[in-house]
This record gives sequence, C-alpha cells and structure tokens, in this order.
Amino acid sequence: MPSGSRYSLTRLYNVLWEAYGPQGWWPARTPTEVAIGAVLTQNTSWRNVERAIAALETADLLDFRRLHEVEEAALAECIRPAGTFRVKARRLKALAAWVWHRGSGSLEAALRGDGRVIRADLLYVPGIGPETADAILLYAGKHARFVVDAYTRRILIRHGWIGPDATYEAIQDRFERRLPPDAGMFNEYHALLVELGKRHCRARARCKGCPLESWPHDADAS
Ligand code: SF4
Repeated sequence: MPSGSRYSLTRLYNVLWEAYGPQGWWPARTPTEVAIGAVLTQNTSWRNVERAIAALETADLLDFRRLHEVEEAALAECIRPAGTFRVKARRLKALAAWVWHRGSGSLEAALRGDGRVIRADLLYVPGIGPETADAILLYAGKHARFVVDAYTRRILIRHGWIGPDATYEAIQDRFERRLPPDAGMFNEYHALLVELGKRHCRARARCKGCPLESWPHDADAS
C-alpha cells in the first residue's frame, strides 16, 4: 500500500470508523463554547476545561461580547481550573478582541468567508497557533480544515507515513490534498485519531488489540 496515499488515508478512516463509530465532536453546545474550549484545552485535560467552562457559564461569560468587556484579572480567576489561567485569560481576551473587530462581536460573522483568509487572520491573534485556529475553523466555523494534533503526528510517524521532522502544515496538507474537502469527515477523522491515540498510541504504544495492529509499524518511533 503506498504510504499516505488517498487510498490508505481513506482506508485508515474506514478502519477507525468501524472500530469506534461516530465520536460526536466537538464536546460543546455552541460554536462559542467550541472556540473558548479550543483555547482552554491547551496543555490541560478536558475535565479541567469543563470545570472552567462551567465557571464561565455561572459568571455569564460564555459570550464573546461579555469576554471583550470583562477585566482580564476577573476572567483569569474564573478560568483558574483550566491551568495557566493568566496566560489563557490573555489569550481569550485577544480572541474576543478579534471577534469584536472581525465580526462586531459575533463569532459566526467572524468565521464567515474564505477559510484560508480567516485562518491567516486568526494566526495573528496572540496565543492562537495552527492547531487552535484549525479547531476553531473546523468545529465552530464548519470549514474543511484538517486538525493536526500530537496523536496524529505520532500515529503517522509510527506507521512510516511522515518523518519526525514533518511540519504541521506538511501533515495537514497530506490529508487535505488527498481527501475530499468534507468538514463532516474531517471532524470525525480528527476525533477518531484522538480516540486511537488515547486508547492505544500513547507515549508507550499499546499495539495489542489496536485496530492498526496488523499494519506495518514501529511502535518505538517518535
Ligand atoms: S498499532 Fe501500535 S503504533 Fe500503530 S497506531 Fe496502534 S498503538 Fe500506535
């Protein structure tokens, strides 16, 4: 099987889908929650994100207009459960300012238009890197952008599809060039890779029983 080809990427998707089924991502109720969660989840567990989001809801801050107005220090206290809360408060304020300027306070309006242009604009927001920008574009804006995370990178390296020095953009390009631009599929594909990573392709691989166990791989590659 040619590595990383359209055929193999489709087959990988089908194997994961058959193994795990629909993942129902992103775990949020609204696009605003998705975007806020995408910042809060940086370097912490989802359980901590949920606690911070609950605190934001109690404080009536699950709204970009309110986030734009609130004092940064008060916001930081509110999201303390998410860890590195001062940094994340600064980032949420920067994202809220972006939504304010680009969409007059409406995230939906800010995310409307050409996904590539919006992505380039989002990357100017302090603290918004490629993974966070793509998560917001895909899960909040329904743009067909493939989200690359540490699990995706590790799985592809261990199966010899990319080298250890592959950039984020090179990995993303591999998926986006070889698969149809289908936001629904990209949504599930990323979620399925995360599920595979959490269950099997951890720092120490658990290949026994993995859906990809029979595929050529090097479990020690990283
Ligand atoms: S077979 Fe091993 S290396 Fe491949 S995805 Fe599963 S756990 Fe990772």
